[in-house]
Amino acid sequence: MSAHDIPLAEAGGRLTIDLSALAENYQELTRRAAPAACAAVLKGDGYGIGLAAAARTLWQAGARSFFVALLSEARDLRDLLPEAEIFVLNGLFPDTEAAYLERNLRPVLGSPAEIARWRAFCARAGEEMPAAIHVDTGMNRLGLTPAEAVSVAEGRAELGFPVALLMSHLACADEPDHPLNARQLEDFRAIAALFPDVRASLANSAGTVSDSAYHFDLVRPGIAVYGGRPRVDVAPLRPVVRLELRIARIRHVHEGETVGYGGAHTAIRPSRVAILSAGYADGIPRLAGASDLRPGAEAVVAGRRCPLIGRISMDLLAVDITEIDEDAVQPGDFATLLGDGLTLDNLARHSHTIDYEILTSLGRRYHRRWL
Ligand SMILES: *Cc1c(COP(=O)(O)O)cnc(C)c1O
Repeated sequence: MSAHDIPLAEAGGRLTIDLSALAENYQELTRRAAPAACAAVLKGDGYGIGLAAAARTLWQAGARSFFVALLSEARDLRDLLPEAEIFVLNGLFPDTEAAYLERNLRPVLGSPAEIARWRAFCARAGEEMPAAIHVDTGMNRLGLTPAEAVSVAEGRAELGFPVALLMSHLACADEPDHPLNARQLEDFRAIAALFPDVRASLANSAGTVSDSAYHFDLVRPGIAVYGGRPRVDVAPLRPVVRLELRIARIRHVHEGETVGYGGAHTAIRPSRVAILSAGYADGIPRLAGASDLRPGAEAVVAGRRCPLIGRISMDLLAVDITEIDEDAVQPGDFATLLGDGLTLDNLARHSHTIDYEILTSLGRRYHRRWL
């Protein structure tokens, strides 16, 4: 167990990251993916929990292939894991080729221009460096068109470098009945058949917990490893993140008074309110707040669920603790925002967002500890 530089006594919140849950989630996904291999996605600072801790834990749990979004993330990861296979999803930016060679990183090439640049670089360097090829099957973000992929397959002999992986990305796999899933699967299958000697990869977390037809040779789960919900109808695996916020102040509010900016919450009875020392600067979405017109998220105080009230400020938020015994809670205590039955998914829904955004926004002002 190690602690972040902010001492607990000074921090507005405590973030506990359960690395044994992370390892177990990875191993569970590995079992579901078998016989396909299971990679891990570490972009966004390991989905907000910290790249170093996530990388070391997942390597120990058996992961050997990793995906990040950017070269800067890949460099940090290479320093942590000298032997790992590391793919950079966002493509080959101009003038970065040498950095890939130097650290033995794999770009995920997603356009004819990127492929041409990689080929030219390999020829200049006199080294056939493997790269992945991304084919778009319906996301319309990165990747070759299927027609471009066909011409790459036809020109394999002159490609000038080995294809380490052929991949595509599912747009709607969290909704199992979405018709795009079957279309993407069919299109990817047809393209993968043109590269019979190359490992193929299509599935994110949602694809990994779906039918094995989606698994191909390598699955690439991210969110499910970190305890997020992989699919609307599939429960999350073990929670990895627990977030507790310090109670800075407890105050009495008279009936008819308002709490916070904009007077958005009006007390309809004499109330006791706990002011917690964290806000949107710590990554708690403003939309998790409440008003007289709409409820917000909840926090657990002294073992009981209490509603957030009023707007979330930059550094503070308010919780109605009228139902809690006066001596059960005092300033300096912690209230739970994630954990004690409050899931990531639950906070995300109340905030009109997704688990991914909650995790990758987790603030830098918390005392962090890794279990
Ligand atoms: C982020 C990402 C993943 C992981 O997705 P999850 O939904 O978090 O499992 C897999 N593949 C690609 C291309 C990604 O960008």
